[in-house]
Amino acid sequence: MKSYRKELWFEVPTRRAFINITPKVEECLADSGVKEGLVLVNAMHITASVFINDDESGLHHDYDAWLEKLAPHEPVSQYRHNVGEDNADAHMKRQVMGREVVVAITDGRLDFGTWERIFYGEFDGRRRKRVLVKIIGE
Ligand code: ZN
Repeated sequence: MKSYRKELWFEVPTRRAFINITPKVEECLADSGVKEGLVLVNAMHITASVFINDDESGLHHDYDAWLEKLAPHEPVSQYRHNVGEDNADAHMKRQVMGREVVVAITDGRLDFGTWERIFYGEFDGRRRKRVLVKIIGE
């Protein structure tokens, strides 16, 4: 069995953003040489997500508006977590959007459903953060 590990680094200049990381995961898959197996992609921070959905800007705007309704950033004093920090909303947004995805690898390609793409969701940006890509298979 082959095993491959890589960390992808991000420094998002805004507090929140959604980034299509599918091409980066496809590069990892090509480097791994795995033709049949699984890829795990997970955020290595508790204020960021990795999720699968459509690469459609309207939907991403809708996600951002929906998450702001669920867990508004302001006022930061509404959260008990925000003693000496201001990112309680980011922890909650990450919880809703998820930590990781697993995608099947078939014939050397990501075996997606129609329109599926992998995204990094940043909820407390403006600092360097990591995503882990782990690939196993043959
Ligand atoms: Zn925090």
